[in-house]
Amino acid sequence: MSPNVARPADDPGDAPVLGTRLPGGVRFVGPEDDTVAAWRPGDAPATADLDACVACGLCLPHCPTYRLTGEESASPRGRIAAMRAVDEGLATPDPTFATFMDRCLVCRACEDVCPSHVPFGRMMERARTQIEPDRGAGTRFLRWFGLDVVLARRRTFAIAAALARLTRPALPARLRPLVPRGVRRGPRVPAITEPSPTVEPRGTVAILTGCAQDAWFREVNRATVRVLARNGWRVTAPPRQRCCGALQAHNGRLDTSRSLAREAIASFEGVDALVVNAAGCGAHLKELPDLFETGTPDHEAARELSARTVDLMELLASRPLATPEHGAGVDRVAYHDACHALRAQGIHRAPREVLAAIPGLRVSDLPGNDRCCGAAGIYNVLEPAMSGALRDDKADAIRASGASVVATANPGCAMQLAAASDAEIVHPVELLDRAYSAAGAATVGWRS
Ligand code: SF4
Ligand code: SF4
Repeated sequence: MSPNVARPADDPGDAPVLGTRLPGGVRFVGPEDDTVAAWRPGDAPATADLDACVACGLCLPHCPTYRLTGEESASPRGRIAAMRAVDEGLATPDPTFATFMDRCLVCRACEDVCPSHVPFGRMMERARTQIEPDRGAGTRFLRWFGLDVVLARRRTFAIAAALARLTRPALPARLRPLVPRGVRRGPRVPAITEPSPTVEPRGTVAILTGCAQDAWFREVNRATVRVLARNGWRVTAPPRQRCCGALQAHNGRLDTSRSLAREAIASFEGVDALVVNAAGCGAHLKELPDLFETGTPDHEAARELSARTVDLMELLASRPLATPEHGAGVDRVAYHDACHALRAQGIHRAPREVLAAIPGLRVSDLPGNDRCCGAAGIYNVLEPAMSGALRDDKADAIRASGASVVATANPGCAMQLAAASDAEIVHPVELLDRAYSAAGAATVGWRS
């Protein structure tokens, strides 16, 4: 799609003929066209957000899908132009529009460099919600079943995860990236963990145990609790909590995400801080008010929870760390920034500082650290070709780094990197936990 599709409202330009297609195939319609899909006004990108884009193109070289394809329709500017065409009633959210939006990783590299501070992530969530009613019945059923039924219900997801592990070899190749091999589950984190008696108490925090994190990376949650307690925090893990709703919001299920947000607000009511160890969940919870209309009770409650949400690495780096007694059993680690930590939350320094506190550990950046790994929630399943190309780039980067251990703070990235390489993939908190452990030999990390 040409960026010029989104001409200024006061410029009549070459008015398109009703029913014709834009370059790239988005169909023009008029207001009287009854094929315009219905969507809730609140679930379309806001006109003010769209208007913030001045089509300067500065974001293009930073967009992974534009870099891979060279196509304007796969760039932030092209996508915004398409959203604006729909907003102005010049196009419908038809299958071509859906393709433009679905190929986006929502990595938000474009947001990071945009001089106009265009809130691209928020706009994309709404554009995908616009598309949802026009998807095929089979696709709609699968998305509803996967995101609204399985992922959103803790017990259902636990059963599905157990079945998926057992049947992994028989799963379609496309679904296998969502089910890592060699998962070490162990028991759930306790509802309450008291702080270590050897340090001064710092207060009480709750942790988000998550859905995928709890199913595939329970050891990360357990390490999180141990490290927080070692640093003087009393840790609660409210048993009522469910999925935070990030994946649903990213994939056009805003109503489901809203109801999960209300549940999160109730589950974590009254806690001083909500600690999150998964970048995608943390970014979503910090931006929770975006789901609700300003001035409503839901918006206010979401604002309160988001203000109390803190990333685990941010919290640890914000105060003096308890000194680790040992090394972590590895002398070198390469760090991979998750997009939803680096871009959406602006977290860069904290994890490096935490890792650097481990005796004898050299920390380096994975080459090409500013680029998405291609996991992007369920993108690796929905867009396997694009995701595979980005994963191959990470495989090259890990090889070039020479590191045998890679740390990253997001479960999706961990699975993608594990699929890309034989390196051991860890959450940074696992290395710190290992350095704290008396034995200094806790099992850590995993391979796909
Ligand atoms: S950098 Fe920002 S303003 Fe410029 S084209 Fe990209 S999104 Fe639009
Ligand atoms: S979110 Fe990422 S993939 Fe999507 S347009 Fe922005 S830079 Fe490109």
